Amino acid sequence: MVPEALADWVYEDLQDFYGEPAPRPLQAPLAELIQTILSQNTADSNSDRAYKALVDRYGDDWDAVRLAPVQEVADTIRHGGLAEIKARRIQSVLRQIEERLGELDLEFLHQVPLEEGRDFLRSLDGVGPKTAACVLLFACGKPAMPVDTHVHRVSQRIGLIPERATAEQAHGLLEALVPDDRMYAFHMQLIRHGREICKAQRPRCDKCPVSSQCGYAAHSIRGSA
Ligand code: SF4
Repeated sequence: MVPEALADWVYEDLQDFYGEPAPRPLQAPLAELIQTILSQNTADSNSDRAYKALVDRYGDDWDAVRLAPVQEVADTIRHGGLAEIKARRIQSVLRQIEERLGELDLEFLHQVPLEEGRDFLRSLDGVGPKTAACVLLFACGKPAMPVDTHVHRVSQRIGLIPERATAEQAHGLLEALVPDDRMYAFHMQLIRHGREICKAQRPRCDKCPVSSQCGYAAHSIRGSA
């Protein structure tokens, strides 16, 4: 099956299997950016607590976060893990935005084309491809595909992207395969599938709705024959 047809088929099967993913309310792009930095290398529950603590302390006054003592910010976001690193990263990103735009506001991302928005975000030191894609998809509703460890692994195993494609390369490869209006749902389905069935250590291929077209499953069956 050619990759576009495979992507269509996988999408339909995952939608049938899991149902339509719950919509996620859009929030301000800058808030999404900070929340995504907090989510790096930690579970969602921890980063949610850290973000709530940050908002409880500073409201949405990102200038106050920028100017606060770094140790104070780190203590506030302690639940999110890597608190010192993330506090420095958040303040650095806020400083860069302030220097470049003269204000702490990323609402312009709604108005500019996807690649222009991505270029701006990626030009900020501390913002990688996944973080940029999260802001563009979740805050702006643009067709960007954030590639986390689940999206990367599941896409490789099924054969949507080449086995050797890096996570960074996977962003462009998947965006080229997935129609714009399916980007959000496909992203959510791949994450859910990676968490529940196509697990890193022991994928549950016997329970998997896409096993008949999965390259990893075909290889495993041939290998054990
Ligand atoms: S068949 Fe196995 S390896 Fe392939 S997607 Fe399903 S769980 Fe993952």
